[in-house]
Order: sequence, then structure tokens, then C-alpha cells
Amino acid sequence: MKKRGFTSVYIKFVVVFVGILWICSTAAFHLISTAITDDIRNYFTEQIQIKAQYITDFCTKHSFDPEELQSLFSDGSIEVSVFESIQELRANKRMNTFFSQEQIQQLNSSEKMEGKFARQIGLPFISFHLGGKIVVIMPNVQNNALVLFKNVIMTVLLTCAGLGSVLIAIAARMIVKPIQTLTAAAKEVAKGNFDIQIRTRSRDEIGQLSDNFNMMTQELKNIEYLRKDFISSVSHEFKTPITSIQGFARLIKNKKLPLEQFDEYTDIIISETGRLANLSSNLLKLADLENQATPEHNVTFSIDEQIRNVILLLEDKWSAKRIDFDLDLHVIKYCGDEELLQQVWINLISNAIKFSHEGGEIRITAKKEGNVIKVVIADNGIGIADENKDRIFEKFYKGDTSRTKEGSGLGLPIVKKIIERCGGRISFESTLGKGSTFYVELVNK
Ligand code: ADP
Repeated sequence: MKKRGFTSVYIKFVVVFVGILWICSTAAFHLISTAITDDIRNYFTEQIQIKAQYITDFCTKHSFDPEELQSLFSDGSIEVSVFESIQELRANKRMNTFFSQEQIQQLNSSEKMEGKFARQIGLPFISFHLGGKIVVIMPNVQNNALVLFKNVIMTVLLTCAGLGSVLIAIAARMIVKPIQTLTAAAKEVAKGNFDIQIRTRSRDEIGQLSDNFNMMTQELKNIEYLRKDFISSVSHEFKTPITSIQGFARLIKNKKLPLEQFDEYTDIIISETGRLANLSSNLLKLADLENQATPEHNVTFSIDEQIRNVILLLEDKWSAKRIDFDLDLHVIKYCGDEELLQQVWINLISNAIKFSHEGGEIRITAKKEGNVIKVVIADNGIGIADENKDRIFEKFYKGDTSRTKEGSGLGLPIVKKIIERCGGRISFESTLGKGSTFYVELVNK
């Protein structure tokens, strides 16, 4: 993209700082000049007065030749000029650069005159008539301390401002470069390239900005990875039952299929359809919970009663495995979303049944300690291997799939989301081959 003048930080930076530098130099020059000029002017006034007195004394004692006077009394700092007449003074180009016409007129008319040049830098002068001639005593303008001083100050300030401008331009480039790198990197991110990382060594604000930018791209990369992983998991979860339904539907199209096989295949299709329905309803529940889409319907209900009802609801599953329940449920009133919390117990108790051995035992306790409600669901089933413990709350994580084909790996993520929404906590302990215990803590609002 074409850069326009002041849209570049670099140009702004250089213009502002170089501008400030030049304004300060000019102001400094004027301040120093005014402070010193008066002192120098007073010094010269004194010097030309002494010289005027000296010349007058000298000329009363000696006859004088103008040429001689000029060479005798002019020195490096004071200049003495002698003019035959006003016409000669008027015709002198140099004098015209210092005196105004009125001043020249006055020089002619007054016997003695003290003043400042009307033109140039306002230096003092004395003029008087001597032997019919006009004598002008003034500071040596070419070589006087005031001019020299001003030149020195000007040179120093010009060098500082010039050198300063170059250094500001270099420094600005160094400061702006990381910003340009960041802008280029941000454009890459906008295009969807999250692999970009900025190398930075500085610890200043720009260094911190670059570090945060790197953290952001890393985070975006993770989110992108999770999104892709989620889509591929969802597709995979849907594909398996659909393929199986398709296969068995083709088989039952065969008119000569024995009745037992027909029944068996139809049962498989029904169960796979159930799995699909379950999967999509779990996905919807999770999406609703993540987006906080459904409003909470808070009511006061008994947690102990709710757990008992869930056990009854799951009777088919536990009675088929001859599982025993050991219940210690205190009467606990809780105010919250009844339907959501029921889902927690359904998922946790279903898992306990699913991962229990035949004839296993499930212990459930519910009690209240102060304001905290503690529910513990423990089984003596297959347990969870240490290497899998970190992952059981991940979406679609199903542990060892060779042991169970049931489930979609969404049960525990749903439980976690509901408990977080209620402001509670969930944790677990498990030993492979010995069983698992899930702890739920809720706080009555
Ligand atoms: P699933 O639908 O597979 O049960 P969950 O999210 O409920 O999905 O559980 C994720 C995984 O955590 C399970 O596949 C299993 O490996 C492990 N798990 C959960 N509960 C238990 C339990 N009580 N005993 C053993 N493993 C469990």
C-alpha cells in the first residue's frame, strides 16, 4: 500500500521532534543574544567614550592628519573614521549601511553626537567635529566581539540542530521498525496465518507488545487446532453410525433374509439411530451451555430425591449388570436449575454403571457441610489409567474404546460445564482396576 505523508508514524515522529529541536535552537539563540547584547553594547559605549576623549586631548596637543588619526586610533575592536564633509560621509557606502539619512543630517548639524546605529545591529557610536572634519568612532563591525559571539552561538546551535535532526531520524527508524514488523505480522494473522512469531529482544513497551502478540497468535493457533479437531471428531462420530445404518439397511433389502437376521439388523439400525439422536442432543446441550443460550430456571428442590429418581430411571442398565447401590443421602434442599442438575447425576451414575464390572457396587453419598453440598459417586469398576486422567473432561475423549463402544465422550464435558455454571466444582480420584470416585461440590446461592 502506498504511504501518504503524515499517515506514517516515522514521518510524524521525525517532523515533530526535528521541529521541536529547531524551535528550541532558534529560541535559545535569541535568548542568549538578548542576554549578552546589552552587556557588550555597554562595554563598547564605554570604550568609544574613552577613545573620543583621548582623541580630543590628543588633537588639542598635536596638529592632526586624518589619515594618521585613523591608523593611530583604530584597533581590532574600535574603528575611527574621519570625513572631510557631510557629502563625503553621505557618499560612503559603508556608513550608509549603519546610519539613516536623518542620522547623517544630525551628524552634520550637531557638534557632538552619541547614539546607536539606526541600521544593522544597533551598536553605539560617537561623532564630533574636529578641525572642520567629522570624526566617527564606532565598534569594529567586521571583527567585533558581539558579531563574533553571535556567529559562534549560531554555529554551535546550527551544528547541534543539524546533527540532532540526523540522530532523531536514525532513532525514529529504530523505534518505528518494530511497529512496522508488528503491522506486517498483524496483516498475516488477518489472512489466517497463525504460525507467525515476532522475534524480540527488547524488554520495553514495544517488546511487551510483541510478546503479547506472540501469545495471541499461539492462542489463536490452539483455538484453530481445537476447532479443526472438534469438526473432525463430530464428523467421525456421525460417520460411524451412519455407515453402519447404511450397511444394515442394504442387507435387509434382501427379501430372502431369514427373520432372525432381519430382526437382528433392524435392532442394530434402531440402536445406531438412538446413538445418533443421543449424539446430536448432547452436542446441542453442550453448545447451549457454552453459549449460555438457555436461561436458568431456578427452583428449590431436594438433591437426595433427585438422585434416587435418577437411579430408578437407570434401573434397566444397572439391573442388567446386577449392580448394587449403597446410598447415604441426607435431606438436602438446593436452589438451582433442576433439569440441568439432573443431567449431572444421569451422566455420572451412567458412567459408574457403564464402567463397573458385573455384580459391582456403587456408593453414593450426599451431605451438607455448612453452605457446601458434597455429593460423592464411587464405583469399584475398571478405573482410569494415570495417563488418561488429564483428558477425561475433553470433548469426545472416550478413554479405552476397546472396553466400551457406548458413549460419545461428551458426558463429562457436559457435567463440567453444568457444574461450572452452578458455581460448583468437580474432581475425581481413580485407580486403574480398582474403581473411580467423583466428587461434586455445590454452594447454595
Ligand atoms: P462417555 O460417553 O465415553 O462415557 P464421558 O465424557 O462421560 O464419555 O467420559 C469420558 C471417559 O472418561 C470415558 O470414556 C472413560 O474412559 C472415562 N470415565 C468416565 N467415568 C468413568 C468411570 N466412572 N470409571 C472409569 N472411567 C470413566
